[in-house]
Amino acid sequence: MPALPPRSVAVVLGTRPELVKLTELIRLLGPAAHVVHTGQHYDEELSGRFLAEFGIPEPTYLTGVGGQPRAVQVSAALAQLDAVFRDGPARAVVVQGDTNAALAGALAANARALPLVHVEAGLRSHDRNMPEEHNRVLIDRIADVLCAATPENRANLLAEGVPADRIDVTGNTVVEAAHRQLPAERVRLAYLAGLGLTPDGYLLATVHRPENTDDPAALRAVLGELAALAEEVPVVLPLHPRTRARAEAAGLAGLLAPLRVTRPLGYRDFLALARHAALLVSDSGGVQEEVTVLGRPLVVVRNSTERPEAMADFATLVAPGPELGRAARERLALGAAGRAQLAALPSPFGDGLASQRIAELLADLVTARTAPYAAAA
Ligand code: UDP
Repeated sequence: MPALPPRSVAVVLGTRPELVKLTELIRLLGPAAHVVHTGQHYDEELSGRFLAEFGIPEPTYLTGVGGQPRAVQVSAALAQLDAVFRDGPARAVVVQGDTNAALAGALAANARALPLVHVEAGLRSHDRNMPEEHNRVLIDRIADVLCAATPENRANLLAEGVPADRIDVTGNTVVEAAHRQLPAERVRLAYLAGLGLTPDGYLLATVHRPENTDDPAALRAVLGELAALAEEVPVVLPLHPRTRARAEAAGLAGLLAPLRVTRPLGYRDFLALARHAALLVSDSGGVQEEVTVLGRPLVVVRNSTERPEAMADFATLVAPGPELGRAARERLALGAAGRAQLAALPSPFGDGLASQRIAELLADLVTARTAPYAAAA
């Protein structure tokens, strides 16, 4: 890959999963990367600590975005990104996934006629109740280079009329993120021991999506099922600030009592726990991919998923309610033999070289765009 001009690739991000999934690309780009953080996730536990954990160079921070309604997040970030792109040396813009930060980055790139690369293009839940689904569709509409993680993602894009020459199947960058950040076995086991946990002897849960947290009945159902499971097996729940706030507001704090509630964890600690969990229960998108790298079973608590690739072998999709407990017990009953079977399967999300492929696509894009100017100079 040729060395690109300093800060010629603007990488716009704003949340925990984007930090996880763009770190390796940022590392490969080196000084060519200019990280712009919108502040969509603004607290230390969901953002700042990940920058330090991953060694991401100090980003340019936008202001007035975090904690705002969706339209305000997008418009506040858009206005500031326009100034960054107007004044800076960006020759291409990268966004990842389906966040408000990614949508703002995409619109700002489009407004300044900067080529836009969408990492993790082509995911579709076909669920119009999810703001993320609208963000994905809008970003894919205007992206110039669409990095689809899987052939299914590519097929989704082709079905919507995206020209084939804009799409590259790269794999998902989470595969290399998980490989690179997973602590060594000795470190993992010491961490578990410090928490009083034994490998394969606990369940790891995360819950944070609005469909589960903002509806008190759904939140009661999810926490109630986890509390019932905790009578049979320790349940570790790193609690997202949104979920904590909603549980307290809905008077559901009592359901947290039987659980091993922790603060949100750093990525390496989370991976260590996920790697040895007998089962995961989660509504997270990234966790659906990570279990396929770690070879662990998962119950996905959501009404729909945009990641059907994980569903056949690794995961079961359930709505919040008694189905959750049933599916969890079924998966747990498969025991060590079931987990060994999963561990032997390849991840459907790629081979760990996605970031490398995307860096090369970016190099072609920036070089092609810089060349005519260089020739004229
Ligand atoms: N994660 C983490 N610490 C935690 C919980 C999750 O590092 O306590 C990681 C998880 O491994 C995944 C990412 O955060 O890579 C997922 O973020 P989130 O669930 O917020 O977003 P989504 O994946 O649903 O977009």
